Amino acid sequence: MAPPLTIRMHASDNVAIVANDGGLPAGTVLPGGLVLRDKVPQGHKVALVDLPARSAVLRYGIPIGHALQDIAAGSWVHERLLDMPGARALEHLPMATVKPPALPALEGYTFEGFRNADGSVGTRNILAITTTVQCVSGVVEFAVTRIKNELLPQYPNVDDVVGLEHSYGCGVAIDAEGADIPIRTLRHISLNPNFGGEVMVVSLGCEKLQPERLMPPGSIPITDTRGEPAALDVVCLQDDAHVGFMSMIDAIMATARHHLSRLNQRRRETVPASELVVGVQCGGSDAFSGITANPAVGFCTDLLVRAGASVMFSEVTEVRDGIDQLTSRASTPEVAEAMLREMAWYDAYLARGKVDRSANTTPGNKKGGLSNIVEKAMGSIVKSGSAPISGVLAPGEKLRQKGLIYAATPASDFICGTLQLAAGMNLHVFTTGRGTPYGLAQVPVIKVATRSDLARRWHDLMDINAGKIADGTASIEDVGWELFHLMLEVASGRHKTWAEKWQLHNALVLFNPAPVT
Ligand code: CA
Repeated sequence: MAPPLTIRMHASDNVAIVANDGGLPAGTVLPGGLVLRDKVPQGHKVALVDLPARSAVLRYGIPIGHALQDIAAGSWVHERLLDMPGARALEHLPMATVKPPALPALEGYTFEGFRNADGSVGTRNILAITTTVQCVSGVVEFAVTRIKNELLPQYPNVDDVVGLEHSYGCGVAIDAEGADIPIRTLRHISLNPNFGGEVMVVSLGCEKLQPERLMPPGSIPITDTRGEPAALDVVCLQDDAHVGFMSMIDAIMATARHHLSRLNQRRRETVPASELVVGVQCGGSDAFSGITANPAVGFCTDLLVRAGASVMFSEVTEVRDGIDQLTSRASTPEVAEAMLREMAWYDAYLARGKVDRSANTTPGNKKGGLSNIVEKAMGSIVKSGSAPISGVLAPGEKLRQKGLIYAATPASDFICGTLQLAAGMNLHVFTTGRGTPYGLAQVPVIKVATRSDLARRWHDLMDINAGKIADGTASIEDVGWELFHLMLEVASGRHKTWAEKWQLHNALVLFNPAPVT
């Protein structure tokens, strides 16, 4: 059997995580001489000292809770023994107080990307068909299948055809407060760099979200042959001209052919790594997320920022408990204020549903050793590395700057990914401990496993094994660099991720905080 291995994150921590596969039995003697009083599952915490009732339990050097009873050294410290601390108030926080020394620029790294008219760069060349409303999705799906089979082979430089299907567009209070979020999300997804500015829309006709409301004049970056802003290309199914279903399909295919021929002229060219727009998130987290995968992603985030790229981290409920760390790292007081504005908005949103940020943790998180949202948040924030936070995006907004950005989104994997797509990400990094087959049709998703056991079992779903860090066979820096190099290969189209190989695509899920009707 492998020697007992425990991991402590901070010198002041009074608990450590058991790293061994399958956990450790009671009676195990740890290297320092401490004897386990209980069986401790993998990823769960062991008390390193006697913890009197009401004392703070420290992980990452901060209190993740207070002991509900006396806990003897060597005991399993699980969520039923901890009282969760209250959320930090959004007042009297350190604002832009930390001035980390500037990281040295990282030069000379490039990838092969598709340069767009608006200056953005795609990592894939995809025809996206925008839809105004869920009603048309069956028709669009039928058309996409035919386009893939009959048209795509004639346009070898185009990678794929994707229908942007969603559940919005009608039966919603479209003028309600908050309705601008799903609308701008859908608009900005249509303008993702991977679609080359070629926007075509399929509309039903009678829906609330009319095409010109979704894509107002001037929103499309490409121009027509006269140099004027291109007109919106809409196929409307209720148009009197359509007689029969095949007339609709023929119209969609004819419009698609026009855009495919333009996309087919795109060529990859060498561009600096600064053109990467990376969205990072985690899902199906466990106690290893904050020890292995997320710190490696954080190291890679610093590399990307040093290379001049854009990196977004998100997931409001997973960073709320570390708000003081984030406001202090903001590059200016204005950025810190913007972060507080997003946190306050989300606190109010949760309060309307009579819950708080503790609604975040899942049964799987707890089984994986994460006692509560405070512990989960500390492990989640490390994805953001150490660079100053230079900007904040509200949900559905489009990113227009470089550096480390806080893009406020729910932590829900599919909603976070959908909003990062809208922000303009051209590469997605996803860490997981419990395991998820997550993927997107619109951008490549690189999945990072937190544990070697998961990487072994899901060998054809996980792209990187950060579990090597817990095994002691690789450092955080090693895995961070491995991820950085893999990003450039994936962005260049030279390497396909597992989700791409299997064509695993999650649905777009729009964040709609407004009522439905
Ligand atoms: Ca997530």
